[in-house]
Amino acid sequence: MTSQHIPPEWAFEFHGHRCPFMPIGYRMGKLAMEYLGVEHEKDHGFFVFPEIGEGHPQTCMVDGIQIATGATYGKVLIAKTFYGKLAATFYHPQKGAMRYSLTPDFIDEMGKYEFFVYRKKGVEPSQIPQPVTEEVINWVYEQSDDFMFKIEPKPDFKFTPAKGSFNKAKCSICGEYVFERYLRMKDGKPVCIPCSGFTKSMPGA
Ligand SMILES: [Zn+2]
Ligand SMILES: [Zn+2]
Repeated sequence: MTSQHIPPEWAFEFHGHRCPFMPIGYRMGKLAMEYLGVEHEKDHGFFVFPEIGEGHPQTCMVDGIQIATGATYGKVLIAKTFYGKLAATFYHPQKGAMRYSLTPDFIDEMGKYEFFVYRKKGVEPSQIPQPVTEEVINWVYEQSDDFMFKIEPKPDFKFTPAKGSFNKAKCSICGEYVFERYLRMKDGKPVCIPCSGFTKSMPGA
């Protein structure tokens, strides 16, 4: 069966450019929702674990997944596993878990499009001639779900989200509020992670 699940125009605006991977993630999300019988997530009840890593160019999928499902980074409903694979597990505590991955045949066929000649030369998607981009996007829309995706139920999949808490305290050094689970103790006083001298390399550190 083929269900194109074409993203709405605002999805491309939100994403920033036209490319094939945002629509692929969108379709993956829509199919997983249909399979599990869940609606676009309003609150905090549907989780997605993309296996995407960083430093490879297909990460745009994750925006499509968020747009389709409502499982967003802002709601802490999505977390990458950093396996570096084009797959994601969709999990609803009452409805179960399904893993969707792109088939190697689909990835190989898509890779033949001119879009990727530009990408491999380092040309950003917004700078690629529009007909070249539309060609690969339209090809993706025409492919069957079976050709694109391997689908696996994950009956043993378990995930327990962090328990929500509004408890917070002020860091004894910088005076800024810190939510409880992130407070550290230094010389017997509560401190935030940066003031604790913790030195994991972080952006801006
Ligand atoms: Zn993109
Ligand atoms: Zn501090």
